[in-house]
Amino acid sequence: MDIFTAVYFVAIVAEIIIRAPLNRRRKQEKMSERRVSSQEQIMLGLLFLGMFLVPIIYAASSWLDFANYTLPAWAGWLGVLLLAGAVLVFWRAHADLGLNWSPSLEIREKHELITRGIYGTIRHPMYASQWLWVIAQPLLLQNWIAGFLNLLVFILFYFLRVKAEEQMMLDSFGTEYQEYMKRTGRIVPKL
Ligand code: SAH
Repeated sequence: MDIFTAVYFVAIVAEIIIRAPLNRRRKQEKMSERRVSSQEQIMLGLLFLGMFLVPIIYAASSWLDFANYTLPAWAGWLGVLLLAGAVLVFWRAHADLGLNWSPSLEIREKHELITRGIYGTIRHPMYASQWLWVIAQPLLLQNWIAGFLNLLVFILFYFLRVKAEEQMMLDSFGTEYQEYMKRTGRIVPKL
């Protein structure tokens, strides 16, 4: 395994470690609203494929070797930098969102609108982190399939999810979320 593939899997382990405690604690939460369409479930499955399964096949077998390409070393290191940024933003977002996090669209009974920390500048830091990740991936996993599948799925996921999520937040928090939208950017801070 080359160094860039190894870095990719180290980052996966880091994100699993960041998310695990929340994932465990949130199972005790009562939800007041769930908006999980079958389309959303398919997207989550495809993201799992693009982020975990296909990269594992790429790293552990020679099945995808026919689609390999080679980039200059600086491109790989740029990927490392972007991935480190992704993990950092992922960690901050989890620290600030706490138990209000969920893998799909849900509002818990005790849901709190978070507007502090990283959520004070952008509304979707986890998706911002995911953008950094999917851009880093083809620089690290130098393979047309393992590098790009996640990016393609995520582009589709992002536009469907953000729209539905903001609608759910507006329905739940009304003018409070409207005001929050005015002073924050989606994934890039407002000037
Ligand atoms: N879009 C956010 C959160 C992703 S987790 C991000 O990218 O960081 C998805 C869940 O987060 C949704 O089900 C919603 O209930 C919750 N959520 C999104 N924004 C929130 C906010 N500002 N405060 C509290 N919960 C939020």
